[in-house]
Amino acid sequence: MKNILIIGGGFAGLWTAAAAVRAARAHGVPQSQLEVTVVSSGDDLVTRPRLYEADPQVMRLALDRVLGPIGVRRITATVTDVDTSTRTVNAVVRSGRNMALGYDRLVLAAGSRLVRPAIPGSEWIFDVDTLDAAAALDHHVRRLPQRPATAGRFTAVVIGAGFTGLEMATELVTRLREVAGDADDVRVVLVDGADMSGPEPGDGPHPHISTVLSDLGVEMRLGKTVELVTDSEVELAGGELIPSSTVIWTAGMAASPLTQSIPGERDRYGRLRVDEFLRVPGAPEVFATGDTAATVADAGHTLMQTCRQAIPMGKLAGHNVAADILGLDLAPFATNPYVTCLDLGPAGAMATGGWGRIPAEKTGEQGKALRCRIKAEGMYPPVDDAEAILKLADYQGCWSREEFHS
Ligand SMILES: Cc1cc2nc3c(=O)[nH]c(=O)nc-3n(C[C@H](O)[C@H](O)[C@H](O)COP(=O)(O)OP(=O)(O)OC[C@H]3O[C@@H](n4cnc5c(N)ncnc54)[C@H](O)[C@@H]3O)c2cc1C
Repeated sequence: MKNILIIGGGFAGLWTAAAAVRAARAHGVPQSQLEVTVVSSGDDLVTRPRLYEADPQVMRLALDRVLGPIGVRRITATVTDVDTSTRTVNAVVRSGRNMALGYDRLVLAAGSRLVRPAIPGSEWIFDVDTLDAAAALDHHVRRLPQRPATAGRFTAVVIGAGFTGLEMATELVTRLREVAGDADDVRVVLVDGADMSGPEPGDGPHPHISTVLSDLGVEMRLGKTVELVTDSEVELAGGELIPSSTVIWTAGMAASPLTQSIPGERDRYGRLRVDEFLRVPGAPEVFATGDTAATVADAGHTLMQTCRQAIPMGKLAGHNVAADILGLDLAPFATNPYVTCLDLGPAGAMATGGWGRIPAEKTGEQGKALRCRIKAEGMYPPVDDAEAILKLADYQGCWSREEFHS
């Protein structure tokens, strides 16, 4: 029996597993001849793109409801390193016991993590990168009314005006107003070292984003860095002090450190450079996908670390790893029309299309309807239904095209 081992139970890893099973079944290969295993440090698929919202605890789905029906073996363990020379993955299970897992083909789908800042007082800074971190922020915000009525009690400083920072800041306008009740001192301040609002979404969306932030009363501190954080204030370079009980860091992602265990080139985010089939050139039995892979799409653009790309990349990695082991042709990566959809809290949302992120017609309420549909349906896999799961695991049937044009 041959085996495919997938590290990671995020969007990329889950869809890799489903697509590998789909490819094997399509070629009449029984489960007894090809085993597909997912090893993941948690039991759930965590919906990371929604962790800036209220009630983040519910943003998860039991992996067994997707992997169980399609016959994928699942192991809960944290992988500590990969030895490609012996095709062995070393991991630690919850009890602390070490385990070694062999593989014929490996798919690295261990995702990414936020790079937290090394500034004085960083222990006071929240983030929304993981379920636990987002839950801690949610708990803190709900308890603000119980804190002494000092300046800055209902002020939040969000550091980083990229996609996550913008979604967090605009969402906090509503969340802080809800908890503050009649208090009229709600403030949201967005700080970024760049000198424009929304440096990451870029020039195209920038005018709309600036208007929305201004309409919502989000204060901007652009071209500024944070020098110091305490439990009650933030000091910016230049000396400005902002009284604030809530500081959230959203800037900077890096690929899983497991990428360092695989021989190959890495980009500035630590992602492994892969070929058009998502294979790591320096380790032919290894594929990388989702946030661990630096994938070049049409016109030489390297994809961003997004869920929107992790899903189709996972499906392709699953198809290709199965095809490789079965001696079939591999398929090259081809991105659907490149789209983004940015939630702007009470001001709706904004979709953009193309590599230049040209704002689409879908802004405001229309954009919000799209964003809600993606959140409600688009990013979740079907559960408890093998046929539906495998149907959606087709690497040629990615979801972003339908979403964008619907
Ligand atoms: C707050 C926030 C907002 C976002 N908003 C959007 C958005 O609006 N749209 C969008 O498209 N994207 C968004 N993203 C990005 C998106 O969440 C990621 O690109 C996506 O989750 C990547 O999927 P992945 O499967 O590659 O990795 P991950 O989701 O990071 O999953 C990695 C998996 O690997 C497991 N793992 C990690 N290390 C190990 C280990 N050592 N051993 C075993 N298992 C391990 C983890 O437990 C997890 O199951 C957002 C991210 C954040 C944090």
